[in-house]
This record gives sequence, structure tokens and C-alpha cells, in this order.
Amino acid sequence: TQFARVKSGEENIYVTVRVRPLSAKEVARSDVSDWVCSNGHTIAYKHALPERSPFPAAYTFDRVFGPDCQTLRVYEEGAKDVALSALTGLNATIFAYGQTSSGKTFTMRGVTDSAIADIFDYIQRSPDREFVLKVSALEIYNEVVKDLLATEGAPLRLLDDKEKGTVVDKLKEEVVRDINHLRQVIKICEAQRQVGETSLNDVSSRSHQIIRLTVESHPFGVAPGSTATSLIASLNFVDLAGSERASQTNADGARLKEGAHINRSLLTLSTCIRKLSGGSKIKGHIPYRDSKLTRILQHSLGGNARTAIICTMSPAHSHVEQSRNTLAFATRAK
Ligand code: ADP
Ligand code: MG
Repeated sequence: TQFARVKSGEENIYVTVRVRPLSAKEVARSDVSDWVCSNGHTIAYKHALPERSPFPAAYTFDRVFGPDCQTLRVYEEGAKDVALSALTGLNATIFAYGQTSSGKTFTMRGVTDSAIADIFDYIQRSPDREFVLKVSALEIYNEVVKDLLATEGAPLRLLDDKEKGTVVDKLKEEVVRDINHLRQVIKICEAQRQVGETSLNDVSSRSHQIIRLTVESHPFGVAPGSTATSLIASLNFVDLAGSERASQTNADGARLKEGAHINRSLLTLSTCIRKLSGGSKIKGHIPYRDSKLTRILQHSLGGNARTAIICTMSPAHSHVEQSRNTLAFATRAK
């Protein structure tokens, strides 16, 4: 199948927008869609904007997926290329960004599933190489890092390793036996995250979840890591906290909304992405070290790393302000 190529150039950030259908709840309260998706690249506001409106009438991205679009297509056109680059030794990250209830978890679940299937398919079709897959999973809540594969859930520290960069101390990493084992592990993470949800109000809207696959390969008969023909890369699936946690008001997005619960990691990620996508124009200092999320992902963002950001939004009129914030973020990221 054909799928979108990652943008060439130094930044390698691929930005797409996915609009979910109106939910039953939204339909029940006679909420309506404010948006039209056309031609696969554009999303337009349905209504006439007042003169001198600070908002654009339409936004264009690498891809725009409308409410009828299946997750498989979102994966194939919005994330597959980035996911598979990990098999060739490039670090890769796939993010879902958007307000709470916009479809981040729904989308990431499908994307992760499809990516895993493709990875195992690729491995099967590469009999000349031996692959070692490892999986780890963590959650960042209020700048506290927790292992989603450990039952105790004690906070984990970040350490600076001379060779590896930032590592999460004592994070469990499992060697993947086969695809069913990996699916099982991911299920356990989801269950862990939901356990948290019942004890702490609204955890998933405030927390970031990272599932990290480490893909290592070498030609058969060669000791791992011993030659230049060995490859190693991380592939990160990141289900971000609800973007309302980094809400910025004003058309220029310059000032922070006061009184909102600002999520430091989400805000720092936005800044890093904006700087990275600015390419040679903005360059300069990228504040990876300002948050746990960006420290953990530093080596999978920028440089040679590949990044796909799937921005999810509700079409509903009642969410228009947050949807515009999401589209503004997506615009800055591309
Ligand atoms: P988030 O993780 O952003 O808070 P969810 O992924 O939990 O949002 O989605 C909210 C609800 O909308 C869920 O019930 C989910 O199943 C549903 N949903 C999200 N996206 C879609 C979609 N594209 N098609 C159908 N249902 C969707
Ligand atoms: Mg969610």
C-alpha cells in the first residue's frame, strides 16, 4: 500500500488532524458540527467569520481525516511510515494530541495495534536478520513518573546516562516473545491506567502515557551490537494529557490562560515541537530539560528522529474553542 512519506528536511515532523464523529451525547443535546473536511488536507469552519476574525476560515495539514475515516487509514496515512522507520534504526514517536474526549486513546489504541502487526510482519519477512523487541510503559502524572508494568507504582527517577542520555531508573522492560505477548503487555498497561482512574479523579486527562518499543536487530550469526550492521531504535506511542491542560488564550497564543491547571510536560512539549518544526528559522535552545515528558523523549524528538502528531478534535460547536486551540497547535507544529 501507498502511504504518506515523512516530510523531507531537517525537522521530520508529520502533522495530521482527525475529527471524530459527533458523540451520542452531543447529538442528544442537539450539538452540531462546525467543521467541513474536504480533499484530505483541509478542514474549514462552516460559518462565516466576522470581519477581522483572528481565526482562519480553513486550515491545511499533511492529512485531515474526517469523521467517517477509519483508524486503519489514520494509521496508514498518518503514522505507518514513522512507525516503520524504527525498524531501520531511527527513533520514532507517534503522539495523540487533543482535548479530553476528542479521541486520543481511541486513535492511539488502533494505531498501536496496526503498527505492532506491521512490525511483526516486517520481522517475518526479514529472515536474514535477528530481531530483539523490548517493551516498557510509563505514565507521567503531575511530573511524577510511574511504571505501568510494575504493580507497586512507586515514583521513578530520571537519571542522566553518559551514553544513553536520560534513562528512567528501575523502569521494567520486558523482552517480547511474540505478538500475543506484546498485546497482552499493552492490555496490562491499559488496565493499570484505568485502576488509577477510579482512585484519582480524571487521571487520563492529566497524565501522559508512553508505550515504548525498543527494536534491535543484527544479521544472523553476528553477535548483537558488535558491528556497524546492528540497528537499535525506540518507537514511542504517546497518549498525551488533554490539551486543555495547556490552554492558551488570545489569538496569538502568546499568553497563558490564568487559573487553568497548566501541565508542565504538555506545555514544554508544545514549545519543543514549535522550535523543532521552525527548522532553521527559530533553532536555538530547545528546552527538553524543562519537563519529564520531553526529557524522556529527547532522543526520539528532533535530530534524525521521526515524529508523527495526530491531533484529534470533536466536531461539536460546544467544543469550538478547544478545537481551534488544537488546530493552532497543529499549525505551529507543521
Ligand atoms: P480522549 O482519549 O481524547 O479523552 P477517547 O479516545 O476516550 O478520548 O474518546 C472519547 C469517546 O469517543 C470514546 O467513547 C471513544 O470510543 C469515542 N471515539 C473517539 N474517536 C472516535 C472515532 N473516530 N469514531 C468513533 N468513536 C470515537
Ligand atoms: Mg484518553
